[in-house]
Amino acid sequence: MIKTKKLKVSIGDIDILKDVDIEIPNGEIHAVMGPNGSGKSTLCHAIMGNPIYISDGDIYLDNENVSELPENERADRGLFKSFQYPIGLPGIRLREFASYINPEISLEEIDKLAETYNVKEFLSRDVNIDLSGGEKKRSELFQLAIRKPKGILLDEIDSGLDIDAVKDVAKFISSISNEENSILIVTHYSRILKYLEISKVHVIVEGKIVLSGDSDLIDKIDSSGYSQFQES
Ligand code: ADP
Ligand code: MG
Repeated sequence: MIKTKKLKVSIGDIDILKDVDIEIPNGEIHAVMGPNGSGKSTLCHAIMGNPIYISDGDIYLDNENVSELPENERADRGLFKSFQYPIGLPGIRLREFASYINPEISLEEIDKLAETYNVKEFLSRDVNIDLSGGEKKRSELFQLAIRKPKGILLDEIDSGLDIDAVKDVAKFISSISNEENSILIVTHYSRILKYLEISKVHVIVEGKIVLSGDSDLIDKIDSSGYSQFQES
C-alpha cells in the first residue's frame, strides 16, 4: 500500500504540492492525471524521497511511515520509481544488473522473465545502451519484475511510445500487478489507461488533487480536458 497524508512539497520557497492525500491499497492500480506542470512528477519524486523536494506530511508504505527515510532506504523497503528517461549503464550487462538488483533471484527466473518481457536479446548487452524508446521501457519493466517491489511509481511510462508499444507496456504493467503491490501510474494521456484495470483516478491541477473517482473519469478527461477541473 502507498499512502500520502497531507503531503506538501516545495522547492526553494515555491510550494508545488498542497495537502495531497492518496491511498493505493495492495492489488490496485491508480492513475494520477493532470496537465503539464501540475505536479505529477513532483509527487513521484517526493514519495520516492528525492532530496531536492522538501516535503511535509506523511508517506506510508504498507503502514510504515517512510517520510523520514532517505531514498535508498525507501527503495530497500520496496518502493520503486521508473525513470522517465532511463539512463544507460555502459559496461554493465543487463543479466548482471538483474542479479544485482535482486540477488535472491535465480538465473532460470531471470531467463524466464526476460522471455516474458521480450528482452532476452538484451540480456548480454549493456543496460539501456542503444535501445529504442520502447525497448528501454521493456527493459525498465523487466527490471521492475526482477526487483519485485511493493510500491511502484510509473511516471509517464507511456511517453514517446507508438500504439503497439503502449499496448505492450500496459500488458506488462498488468502482469506485474498483484495482491502484494500497489501501482501509481502518472500520465497526461488517457491512451495507456484504456488497456489497464484502473481502480481509481486522481486529477491533479496546480499541485492539488481536485477530484478522485473511478475509471469513468478517464473518458471525461478525454472528451473535455482538464479545464473543467480548474478553479476559476
Ligand atoms: P508535471 O510532472 O505534472 O508536468 P512537475 O511535477 O514536473 O509537473 O512540475 C510541477 C511544478 O514544479 C512546475 O511548475 C515545475 O516547474 C516545478 N518544478 C518541478 N521540479 C522542479 C525543480 N527541480 N526545480 C524547480 N522547479 C521545479
Ligand atoms: Mg512530469
